[in-house]
Amino acid sequence: MSLAIDSYERIIENLYDGLYFVDRNRIITFWNKAAERISGYTADEVVGRSCADNILTHVDSEGNSMCTGVCPLAAAISDGEPRETELYLHHKDGFRVPVSIRVSALTDKDGNIIGGIELFTDISSQAANALRVKELEKLALIDHLTQLANRYYIEKEIQSLFEEKRRYNIPFGILLMDIDFFKKFNDRYGHNVGDDVLKFIANNFVANSRPFDLYGRWGGEEFVGIIRNINGNDLELLGNRLRSLIENSYIVHKNNKLYVTISIGATLVQENDTIESLIERVDSLLYKSKSSGRNRLTID
Ligand code: GH3
Ligand code: MG
Ligand code: MG
Repeated sequence: MSLAIDSYERIIENLYDGLYFVDRNRIITFWNKAAERISGYTADEVVGRSCADNILTHVDSEGNSMCTGVCPLAAAISDGEPRETELYLHHKDGFRVPVSIRVSALTDKDGNIIGGIELFTDISSQAANALRVKELEKLALIDHLTQLANRYYIEKEIQSLFEEKRRYNIPFGILLMDIDFFKKFNDRYGHNVGDDVLKFIANNFVANSRPFDLYGRWGGEEFVGIIRNINGNDLELLGNRLRSLIENSYIVHKNNKLYVTISIGATLVQENDTIESLIERVDSLLYKSKSSGRNRLTID
């Protein structure tokens, strides 16, 4: 399919991204509609002027002009290498607009560089906001260190499983797991190595979970597994499988294999349970595993 030249022009003119061309002397030769929208300058105001002419000043996050220092467009024109970066452009009304830019050299049919092209996207509004919302959602629900569900998320999940149980009578079980003698481990190897252990345990859970189960970090060195649609026997088997998996895995630190064990409390949701009674029960089952020797599972 071939497009007529004026179709290309129309497409470029109506691109969502700002786009402009400069010649070898960085005189602006083309300026599209989006460039007008994003910068506040119309094509009439900028075409024929140099982009370093105090109109389009690109600034870094400290407000330093990039026209006198390393202008990405000038660099692309001089060495022919495309570049992309994020910076600010100076809006006609004085404020700074964060943009992501891509620049490359323009060549003629013989490959001689005849100028440059810059495509810039306004990242201040929609895109950036969408990203920020995603980040916030993530921050609100995901534990930063392990990338597992955080306590808030776990509680929400348990609530919705209570609802599922009430409506469809689907049972669920929970595992509360706590690393044994972890304080000693930290004291001996340092907090950072301790953090590596937390991540490694989290990854073990994720790698060995069924799609509908959820593992989360309850706090400190305690983890919760929420296991849907399971009976007591299978919950015990599953918990012990995780326990032995962790007992037999290790991280390598300074050429040494380091091992930890976990103790587990396990229980199925019961008829008159509330989230509080469920957590209380599983917590005291975990305590039993601790007091009877650790690296074991107690179920009730
Ligand atoms: P127990 O077998 O009875 O569980 O002994 P423990 O030492 O694991 O239990 P305790 O509750 O006394 O100590 C928990 C330790 O977990 C204290 C703290 O040093 C460590 N810990 C908690 N959160 C973190 C964390 O985010 N990173 C690291 N590295 N350590 C943590
Ligand atoms: Mg603990
Ligand atoms: Mg512990």
